[in-house]
Amino acid sequence: GTTTKPPPTPSPLRNSKFFQSNMRILVTGGAGFIGSHLVDRLMQNEKNEVIVADNYFTGSKDNLKKWIGHPRFELIRHDVTEPLLVEVDHIYHLACPASPIFYKHNPVKTMKTNVIGTLNMLGLAKRVGARILLTSTSEVYGDPLVHPQTESYWGNVNPIGVRSCYDEGKRVAETLMFDYHRQHGIEIRIARIFNTYGPRMNIDDGRVVSNFIAQALRGEALTVQKPGTQTRSFCYVSDMVDGLMRLMEGDQTGPINIGNPGEFTMVELAETVKELIKPDVEIRMVENTPDDPKQRKPDITKAKQVLGWEPTVKLREGLPLMEEDFRLRLGVVKK
Ligand code: NAD
Ligand code: UDP
Ligand code: UDP
Repeated sequence: GTTTKPPPTPSPLRNSKFFQSNMRILVTGGAGFIGSHLVDRLMQNEKNEVIVADNYFTGSKDNLKKWIGHPRFELIRHDVTEPLLVEVDHIYHLACPASPIFYKHNPVKTMKTNVIGTLNMLGLAKRVGARILLTSTSEVYGDPLVHPQTESYWGNVNPIGVRSCYDEGKRVAETLMFDYHRQHGIEIRIARIFNTYGPRMNIDDGRVVSNFIAQALRGEALTVQKPGTQTRSFCYVSDMVDGLMRLMEGDQTGPINIGNPGEFTMVELAETVKELIKPDVEIRMVENTPDDPKQRKPDITKAKQVLGWEPTVKLREGLPLMEEDFRLRLGVVKK
């Protein structure tokens, strides 16, 4: 139990007759990969009004085009490092570049997004009495010395490396969440997301799944970074969204790992993509980047126990579901 103070009184506007039955939900980073799938799910409930705030750094209006103009949907071009004034009940705070090439592109901005952006969303949650969920990351475990990673593991993180703007940034964001919870009684939820894949992943963001699918469809060699024995565990995006919504709607603060425990080496992933998407493609070993974690796999015991959640889509089922979306965006026709 971490609750010390009762939550602040919700804004009177939210209790007015205009909003009685509707739930108003803010999704920061809602134009991105996971955020746009979350918006799709939230919009299916007719009682939800959804507001997306996104600066389009790595996201795109294209991901939300089916909702633009819908009476229960609103899209705001907004950078979360600036204050935001809206009246909402729930905040899904996803805004943050997630792939190394984007977060390393402007590390200072990445840190500001994690720290000032999260501070602003907590200030907003405090003002309006909203519940806020942070999408943290498995990267808070760094290059883990404990395997698989449980939520109680504190991590092995380099504070001055090229990935630190992201992993240390998320660690500070988690600290801020708990400090607002303890100091101001804010209702918080923290998800530690493990590698997620699916349609609408950025095509050229350097993530391994999007790289391999795009390379296979373009007929280019699949680039396995050395040594290729490093492991990751990949969660299909519909399972991820389901886990995030259960966490938001439940009564546990977390942090809770949300991910798929099925663990694969990068060589195994390349071989699976080759088999399922393009059997005649070449697999090539290439140099790696610094600080690449050697292994990563979530322990999801807690998510199973307290959320009744576990992933349902296997890697071999999920990978083919990306093919059509990638073909369309790459302009590669099926032979
Ligand atoms: P994404 O890059 O597709 O989405 C992030 C969105 O945030 C984009 O639409 C981007 O434009 C927006 N954004 C970035 N900086 C912003 C700012 N300062 N103000 C407003 N908007 C901003 O990434 P994603 O994969 O959908 O990740 C969503 C969240 O999940 C992120 O917080 C990420 O750290 C977390 N996460 C993702 C993964 C994964 O495997 N995809 C793993 C762990 C954690
Ligand atoms: N904030 C915001 N929207 C709000 C309320 C606050 O963006 O509706 C920002 C505010 O600008 C501040 C941050 O959230 O920078 C933290 O707010 P809080 O009230 O906790 O702290 P203070 O303003 O007292 O520093
Ligand atoms: N990787 C790879 N080939 C690529 C891109 C990445 O072998 O074209 C490897 C990378 O070295 C890492 C793993 O895939 O070990 C996952 O990398 P990604 O950037 O997708 O995610 P993260 O490192 O954030 O888990």
